Amino acid sequence: MAVTQRYGDGHRILVSGGAGFVPSHTVDALLARGCEVVAIDNFITGSRDNVAHLADEPRFTLIEADLADGLPPLPGRFDAILHMASPASPTDFAKLPLEILKVGSIGTMALLDRAVDDAARFLMASTSEAYGDPLVHPQPESYWGNVNPNGIRSVYDESKRFSEAATMAYHRFHGLDTAIVRIFNTYGPRMRPDDGRAIPAFINQALRDLPLTVHGSGAQTRSITYVDDLVRGILLLLDSTETGPINCGTEHELSMLELAELIIRLTDSESKIEMVERPSDDPEKRRPDLTLAREKLGYEPRVGPEEGLRKTIEFFAK
Ligand code: NAD
Repeated sequence: MAVTQRYGDGHRILVSGGAGFVPSHTVDALLARGCEVVAIDNFITGSRDNVAHLADEPRFTLIEADLADGLPPLPGRFDAILHMASPASPTDFAKLPLEILKVGSIGTMALLDRAVDDAARFLMASTSEAYGDPLVHPQPESYWGNVNPNGIRSVYDESKRFSEAATMAYHRFHGLDTAIVRIFNTYGPRMRPDDGRAIPAFINQALRDLPLTVHGSGAQTRSITYVDDLVRGILLLLDSTETGPINCGTEHELSMLELAELIIRLTDSESKIEMVERPSDDPEKRRPDLTLAREKLGYEPRVGPEEGLRKTIEFFAK
């Protein structure tokens, strides 16, 4: 089904976490459509560098604020609110557990309240982590998941599951126009080299001819999505009237070992592969069932792993 663009020229959009990796690309795409964008960030995992190119853009405002304290005063009305703020990498789960819980609870509620006040469309950036270590493969949105509710990853998984529950409660109770996107592993320029996720770690190791540290046997799989594909999916969902949750990602499923070997080849590196201890509750398999995204949004990923990884390698090489 074709989705008609709903947000563009003259619309005002609030993006939480706007100086982060995925959110900053989303900000770029919204500005390119003619929207005015206000981004809120406390820079806990994001960076001003990610939006430095927008310094002279009059339709862009960056506000430093911590959503754990609720929303700062933001004059004017927003047409849509995208809640994308949250530390999101596995190393953050151990280092920033309380911050993750707060942004996914206090932050989510504050933004939902603001969406009600403004009668804005509210889009929640949820995650494939909502499926935990899935027992169903690939994962359709109807699958409720297999989540350890108090393990090391639970702060993230449960904060996103809480955010989904809160979003649906506001939709049902307040009639709020809402959407939930379940994002699968996404990569691309502006990731932090040291954020603990496999792709930036492997690329930076390969560029230095250091051993690529693969967790466990490396047989665990992920479906990797280039950021441009994800952002296109997010904006399709925003424009639609769908509530979701809707998966967004690609079906390019690679084992971590295959991914490491591919990165060594693409970087022409001398690196070897080193097996290291696997973190607890690390999911065995990940692949989205994209039936809903295709049917409801006409979404189709376009960028293959080689093309996307080459662009990402180019970014890190600089
Ligand atoms: P990121 O860390 O680069 O971006 C998150 C941004 O939120 C950062 O700029 C950070 O400083 C900001 N932030 C965090 N807590 C905040 C707070 N309390 N107040 C204000 N700002 C705060 O991460 P990302 O990978 O770009 O992820 C963006 C969103 O997409 C997150 O919500 C994440 O859970 C979701 N997501 C990402 C992926 C992925 O593969 N990248 C997968 C699933 C879901």
